[in-house]
Amino acid sequence: MFPNNLQTNYPEVVKFLTNAILKGQLANSYVFIGKDSDVILKFTKVLAKILNCKKNKNIPCEQCTNCKWIERNEHPQALITVSPDPESKKEQIKIDNIRELLNTLNTTSEYFRVIYFPSSSLQFLPSDSCNLLLKTVEETPERTVFIFANQSRNDILGTILSRSQTIYINQKCNSIQESIKSNQINLSNDDFTECFPKNLKDSLEKAKKTYELIQKNETNIKDYLMSLAVQNYDPLKYKNQKQYCLLYTNLTRAYLKTKSFMQSKIVIEDLFLSLTQ
Ligand SMILES: [Zn+2]
Repeated sequence: MFPNNLQTNYPEVVKFLTNAILKGQLANSYVFIGKDSDVILKFTKVLAKILNCKKNKNIPCEQCTNCKWIERNEHPQALITVSPDPESKKEQIKIDNIRELLNTLNTTSEYFRVIYFPSSSLQFLPSDSCNLLLKTVEETPERTVFIFANQSRNDILGTILSRSQTIYINQKCNSIQESIKSNQINLSNDDFTECFPKNLKDSLEKAKKTYELIQKNETNIKDYLMSLAVQNYDPLKYKNQKQYCLLYTNLTRAYLKTKSFMQSKIVIEDLFLSLTQ
């Protein structure tokens, strides 16, 4: 379904989207978080092609007019991009553009429409436009999917986040060491290290504090789990083997949960509860 370069570098995202398409369980709205906007655009285009290819069911043929137009980002119906207006002073998405989009969505179409917002932070999507848009995202018309792209999750409107599935676009690393080298793991914060709460209350407080830290630092939950491993595995192996085993088992479990896109908050709460002594 997806081209090799996406498959190699973003295997989890590819697997997740492939499953959703094959099972007919594509969400109405996705938020893609990642620094590489070209990669997000690539994923968006492939989705639009898969959903609109004239020849093949699930693999873009790259030959038909739909595939070709989408590739050139010139398909007026199958891939609709809503960008900020460079002419306006604040460089925001104009409310008129949103109105126009909603009018288009009210008409029926032979195409499966992918609506792509390459700049989805509050800065670009002002509140009046957001309000107008939200109802449509909530009650998405048939054969329509919204894709919001942004560098961080923090400045996307909460109401959009709660109506969407979040997908992190982070390049795959083969080992923890590789992740550290590529700066995908931030090891600086001491608050991250002490990971065995003493009681239930302590554990919930820790989970809350950690979740806030992750949000504030815009750390991906997987990176956070990796940093816990990096900081604690070696010292614990010699100092306290029981704690080492406990941490190893539960970090692995938490990691698998994030791979199935379970909510970060729940993963962290579960983790600290199971690490409580
Ligand atoms: Zn095609």
